Amino acid sequence: MSLLAKLFKPDLILDRLEDLDLLEFKKQGYQAILLDLDNTLAPYYVKKIDEKTQKLIEKFEKAGFKVLIFSNNSPQRVGDYVKGTAIPYLCYALKPTPIGYLRAQKLLGVKLEKCISIGDQLLTDVLGSKRMHIFSIYTKPLVKKDSLSTRFNRYFERKIFRRLGL
Ligand SMILES: [Mg+2]
Repeated sequence: MSLLAKLFKPDLILDRLEDLDLLEFKKQGYQAILLDLDNTLAPYYVKKIDEKTQKLIEKFEKAGFKVLIFSNNSPQRVGDYVKGTAIPYLCYALKPTPIGYLRAQKLLGVKLEKCISIGDQLLTDVLGSKRMHIFSIYTKPLVKKDSLSTRFNRYFERKIFRRLGL
């Protein structure tokens, strides 16, 4: 496998979060899901979690997974998004560095090799989890609109996707 693939090739690509085969991952012994927020759960301009997304997270939990919203965004953004729910979250995750992943491991009480990571960006979600040997799922961004910092990453992302032949 090329270095590029080792660093950036998702273990699985999903069109939609709803397509996740929970039973299969359960069977394989996975115990927790690290869920990116912006453009994975909701577009960045959606301030509050909706019922459909809450139900989806409940479904993950009922299937026996611990769920953590794992975001590089601020406490204000993530805190406002989950307000009124009991969904645990970790903000300023500093993806793709190992820092947030190690905090997540501690917070969840689940070893990283038993975690699945889900996110919409190669340069943060996928790179970060591949480096930590976490099963990495890439979901297509929900909307074309990104925050300014993300737009910069998308430019490189498109190049990497092309090189990977994806
Ligand atoms: Mg994202």
